[in-house]
Amino acid sequence: MENKLSFYNTLTSRVEKFIPNEDGRAAMYTCGPTVYHYAHIGNLRTYIMEDLLEKTLRYVGYDVKRVMNVTDVGHLSSDADTGEDKMLKGAKREQKTVMEIAKFYTDAFFDDCKKLNIKMPDVVEPATNCIPEFIHMIEALLEKGYAYESGGNIYFDTSRLADYYVFSSQSEKELLVGVRDDVSEDANKKNKSDFVLWFTKSKFDAQELKWESPWGVGYPGWHIECSCISMKHLGEYMDIHCGGVDNIFPHHTNEIAQSEAYLGHKWCNYWFHVHHLNDRSGKMSKSKGDFLTVSLLESKNYNPLAYRLFCLQSHYRKPLEFSYDVLDNMSAAYEKLVKKIGMLDGTGEVDSGKFAEYRSKFEEALCDDLNSAMAVTVLYDMLKADMSDATKLALAKSFDEVLSLDLTGAHAAKETEPAIDAELEAYVLEKIAERKAAKKEKDFAKADAIRNELLEKGIALEDTREGVKWKRVK
Ligand code: AMP
Ligand code: ZN
Repeated sequence: MENKLSFYNTLTSRVEKFIPNEDGRAAMYTCGPTVYHYAHIGNLRTYIMEDLLEKTLRYVGYDVKRVMNVTDVGHLSSDADTGEDKMLKGAKREQKTVMEIAKFYTDAFFDDCKKLNIKMPDVVEPATNCIPEFIHMIEALLEKGYAYESGGNIYFDTSRLADYYVFSSQSEKELLVGVRDDVSEDANKKNKSDFVLWFTKSKFDAQELKWESPWGVGYPGWHIECSCISMKHLGEYMDIHCGGVDNIFPHHTNEIAQSEAYLGHKWCNYWFHVHHLNDRSGKMSKSKGDFLTVSLLESKNYNPLAYRLFCLQSHYRKPLEFSYDVLDNMSAAYEKLVKKIGMLDGTGEVDSGKFAEYRSKFEEALCDDLNSAMAVTVLYDMLKADMSDATKLALAKSFDEVLSLDLTGAHAAKETEPAIDAELEAYVLEKIAERKAAKKEKDFAKADAIRNELLEKGIALEDTREGVKWKRVK
């Protein structure tokens, strides 16, 4: 298929056209949350913009398989393998077990995602599910001479790589700051930038979750989990790996080091990073104590989707400063927008020419390095333009597949549900076939209209590797 989408690839420091390994399919991996506390709205900015990328890929016609891990072991207080395991810290704080904490905050994370209309990834895998995979990769790295045992722990030997610092945008000196943010230097390491693959004997003896391994009872390091979980579900070649900019070093650098040493070839072609949400005092972080959550915004009567609009109005590659003043403006704008769309009279003809014109403007904005603010501008322009209400409503529904702002909620609620399931099934399957034929003819306006027609009846379609799936929504 035609590759229209471009976005910034941190690996090459350039905006690049997206060309997947397999035509028409995108294999995407997202670093999931560390579930020792609620996600703050800064974390969620990253997930909103990754959701935007995924939905844009789907909108322009890709089949996407998206995998996300849940970090429930191994992420230490400092990214540099020092400090306490964050999960243990959370468990102590709340006098619960690590698994209780993990369950509670994993659920809380996905509740927040739901409120922000962030789509659930196709695969979600907790790190503690994959211990045999971690052990297997570490054994292979030891065998190939990329890892060594020292002081009971297993380390990755970064000196074995010609180019460990693959993200050229940052200097080695700058990157090492992250490694130095904890005072204690690990005397077992051969090189300062080496990192732990498996902990056994260490000062972190209080670690609650431990597993048998060929090197003794212990637990995995944080970086190994993303390499193994992505390979488990996406294979040896990946298209897009995402995360916040703080993940570039050391986390993603280490992921690339161990994955490519293990595979013996290039692993992932595109690295997508979202810049931070800051408050006035600087970067938002969970460990700072007070932090902003979706529940806090709700308790102040903000609609979480007003926060989603706030994120969409700014570019993912720019730092974004949060303030209640801006959120107030965004909330007012959001309410006005939904009200305006709610007043459209959906009856009448959809003008397919206008539909195609505005759909392609919207697509163009997104394909230009995910210019979400421009995409929102296209929505406003479209609402002001001279065309029938039915066309405007069809376009608003189409745009909302990506923006996910519940723009047409008022209209969807008016629709009635078909009563008989067998009849319904036959009807939906017929529509799916019609839509497939339209897509084949590259008549995307018609394909979208079919999808929207079904959505109005409370039927949502999902394009998956196995074909189109449908479910009742409402
Ligand atoms: P964590 O739960 O700490 O592992 O972080 C989850 C995701 O949020 C990661 O992709 C981080 O890079 C990202 N992240 C952390 N802090 C921020 C922030 N202030 N703004 C945006 N994203 C962030
Ligand atoms: Zn990761």
